[in-house]
Amino acid sequence: MAAALSRTPSDPRAALLVIDMQYDFMPGGALAVAEGDQLVPLINRLGAQFRNVVITQDWHPAGHISFASSHAGRAPFDSINLPYGPQTLWPDHCVQATRGAELHADLDIPHAQLILRKGCNAGIDSYSAFVEADRTTQTGLAGYLKERGVDSVFVVGLALDFCVAWSAVDARTAGFNTWVIADACKAIDLGGSLEKAWQDLTAAGVVRIDSADLTG
Ligand SMILES: [Zn+2]
Repeated sequence: MAAALSRTPSDPRAALLVIDMQYDFMPGGALAVAEGDQLVPLINRLGAQFRNVVITQDWHPAGHISFASSHAGRAPFDSINLPYGPQTLWPDHCVQATRGAELHADLDIPHAQLILRKGCNAGIDSYSAFVEADRTTQTGLAGYLKERGVDSVFVVGLALDFCVAWSAVDARTAGFNTWVIADACKAIDLGGSLEKAWQDLTAAGVVRIDSADLTG
């Protein structure tokens, strides 16, 4: 892969996708990602560089199918088979309109045009900002970006090995040039999930960069 990036942050065809920077994924939250809060200043700096920014929020109804508490006898981090495939079970998190579902108050990207809420279907999880876990239901994000002339996305946020990775792979599948800015992400790393995520990202054609690789 060529070293030079074909899109710069200020290019109107590029968008920064900020994944799930919510209290439940921060230290002390229901599904904490270690050091997740430490990303906020870097993501704010990146956000200021990009003309186009989309922010996502995991946004579940109470009793969501991804919660271990919704399945008798199951514990968080168990894996079960649902009609759409295997599903890791999580602690209750990012329940709609709760404090834990709020974006971190220090996230400061006022020019972001879209806050996309995902995981809203009670019976389908959605790590991805593009396609829900049934791999069929679209969030509409690909259409939104394409209608606005965006052809390239840079993905940051939480958690690298779940929502960031799935979003980036689906961005590639939808035809976007896709980069993951590795130092602007943190991982859960559950049972080798981080290594698998990088394998999946590479296989999909997603390119790993660091924030220092970006210029105006
Ligand atoms: Zn969730």
